[in-house]
Amino acid sequence: MKGLVYKGNNTVKLQEEPMPKVEAPTDAVIRMTKTTICGSDLHIQRGHVPTVPVGRILGHEGVGVIEEVGPSVKSFKKGDKVLITAISSCAACGYCRRGMNSHCHTGGWMLGNTLGGTQAEYVKVAHADSSLYALPAGVDEGALVMLSDIFPTGLECGVICSKVQPGSTVVIVGAGPVGLAALITSQLYSPSQIIVIDMDENRLSVARDLGAHHTINNASGVAEAAAAVLKLTDGIGCDSVIEAVGVPASFELCQKIIAPGGMLANVGVHGASASLHLEDLWHHNIGITMGLVDTVTVPMLLKLVAAKRLDPSKLITHRFKFADMEKAYATFGDAAKHKALKVLIEYD
Ligand code: NAD
Ligand code: ZN
Repeated sequence: MKGLVYKGNNTVKLQEEPMPKVEAPTDAVIRMTKTTICGSDLHIQRGHVPTVPVGRILGHEGVGVIEEVGPSVKSFKKGDKVLITAISSCAACGYCRRGMNSHCHTGGWMLGNTLGGTQAEYVKVAHADSSLYALPAGVDEGALVMLSDIFPTGLECGVICSKVQPGSTVVIVGAGPVGLAALITSQLYSPSQIIVIDMDENRLSVARDLGAHHTINNASGVAEAAAAVLKLTDGIGCDSVIEAVGVPASFELCQKIIAPGGMLANVGVHGASASLHLEDLWHHNIGITMGLVDTVTVPMLLKLVAAKRLDPSKLITHRFKFADMEKAYATFGDAAKHKALKVLIEYD
């Protein structure tokens, strides 16, 4: 079979790879029908994720058809169509029983990290019963691929952690796929005002189309962007602040635009230290959260998509055949130039 392999030196290559096999009794092997590329795959390609060895097949998002299951898999059989979640989890360990699937003692972020990933013709998924979901009938598979990672991330690490509530004010810093997924899912909670901040005018225009009440281009710096948010919020700042970039400047901005009593949810993966201004914030009665997605909201998101209350396919800007995977990486890797948000990879 073919797989898209991390070759080191900022390179990925589509090449012949061994077929994955059921090894543990709880494994399943899936024939992929749709996958996509995540910003994290680009981090790996660029050598920023040392846990991923050269030679690994990348990808942790996708849908497919079960090819084979281990003897202990109870919920799925050959031929079932499934959504693969970015986090594989056992559902039994202490962390899983607290909903912290990303810290599962025998799982977590495995696909495209510690195990071969979904950007292949076949993938092995560990803990199949608790890491796969049956696809609802009649829903576009491309839309469902967005539920493997970016929608649960925007919702769990962004919207839920920042406690968006009816009537609250929300600011999302970063209008990439994750920030836009937070924008879409925040609207499920009826906030009174949503502000989106980015430097990319195309992404800000998408944010307006997706329901942002105000957008701010922060190319001129943190102070100007903070002043613009304060102007829009009677000098108070926002109740829910969602950081969806992962750079110090963005975390800096988030601290300047949080209202007293607010929540700052850091979603971004930071490769460098950022400052925390306790001297300005100690008396604000705020909370700060951060962490990995647990994919615990996938069942709820599946219901919303099936009920047509949520349309994640709005973030798909490009489609490629699996044979053109390398071209897909080149396009997604220069997302600003290509106005790319999510690229969908199709197998037939
Ligand atoms: P992306 O790179 O596509 O989007 C980031 C956006 O931030 C871009 O539109 C860019 O123009 C904008 N930006 C850059 N610097 C900025 C600044 N100083 N101020 C405002 N905007 C700025 O990334 P994405 O795929 O949307 O992911 C967003 C972040 O979420 C990344 O750090 C990613 O690694 C992280 N992530 C976290 C989890 C998790 O489990 N916590 C899961 C998936 C992704
Ligand atoms: Zn577990």
